[in-house]
Amino acid sequence: MSTEDIAGVKELLSTPKKIVIIPHRNPDGDAMGSNLGLYHFLRHKGHEVTVISPNEFPDFLAWLPASDTVKVFERDNEAATAILNAAEVVFTLDFNALSRTGDAMEAVLKTLTAPFVMIDHHQKPDGYAKYMFSDTSYGSTCEMVYHFITALNEKQYLDVTVATCLYTGIVTDSGSFRFHTTTGTTHRIVAEFIDLGVDNSAIHSLLYDNHTMSRIQILARGLQNMRVLPQYKTSYTSLSQEELNSFGHNKGDTEGIVNYGLSMKGIDFTAFFTENKDEGIVKISFRSKGSFDVNAYARQYFNGGGHINAAGGRSTESLEATIQKFIATLANLKFD
Ligand code: 5GP
Ligand code: MN
Repeated sequence: MSTEDIAGVKELLSTPKKIVIIPHRNPDGDAMGSNLGLYHFLRHKGHEVTVISPNEFPDFLAWLPASDTVKVFERDNEAATAILNAAEVVFTLDFNALSRTGDAMEAVLKTLTAPFVMIDHHQKPDGYAKYMFSDTSYGSTCEMVYHFITALNEKQYLDVTVATCLYTGIVTDSGSFRFHTTTGTTHRIVAEFIDLGVDNSAIHSLLYDNHTMSRIQILARGLQNMRVLPQYKTSYTSLSQEELNSFGHNKGDTEGIVNYGLSMKGIDFTAFFTENKDEGIVKISFRSKGSFDVNAYARQYFNGGGHINAAGGRSTESLEATIQKFIATLANLKFD
């Protein structure tokens, strides 16, 4: 963030304000962690703060401090709209375009006159924010919130509660510190958090050893459905709506399945297709190793985006047709 932007935001936050913080639709650990971390920080500073998620957040994040205060736009449309209309400052965290909140919420956000502050690490940010902290070199938005607080020179408000939320997004978005965006600085920040009292081991257990039986069964089916195309160093898997229903699935149950496709020897590219009949779409997750840019791929073929090695997209065709389209694109790709 530029010195002028920091000075502008510092001035904006120098008196108590009504503030709304927003994650992207289908928020993940980084989106919820950064939203709630900033929520606690701004409350410590004396602001009136509400986190409004576009839709429900997954159960495996429901232990995050103050997650029970999060308003869900889709569930509580009228109340959420009233809070948005009254906001004096709007923070958008972990996304780069208002469309990532969904059509209904985007329409409301576009009518607001309050200044927007963006903190995000996705490529090609839209220009809706008055103050922008956008940088793709960071592994997580949570790490950026730490730097944002440091730049404001207000680390006295970064307590163990703020740090617990931020730690969560740093862990989930870095694949537990394994992705190449994990730096020495990432580890130094995390060391600071642990010194502050963050229970890192307990957080890992809450995130990863807290699965329901339905989630394990869905994972098993996802693994059974895995297909490998060795000539393209590619794997893919899918879950139909019928399969998901048969296990009584909950939001978040499919989280992480995509990574198994990449965990195989000789595989540099993987895709995971999830049929969502309610929304009439197939949601797709892409992952890659090395230089193959799945962000560019998702933009070109599947109306999506993300990062070089982790991206997502969608299709309105059937699950089968979407997979066939995916296979057809592989012949155009170059793998090292
Ligand atoms: P995931 O596969 O975990 O849903 O998403 C991987 C990354 O791609 C995340 O950073 C996510 O924000 C981004 N992403 C997922 N779906 C979309 C999409 O439809 N559009 C864009 N622009 N980014 C996406
Ligand atoms: Mn993120």
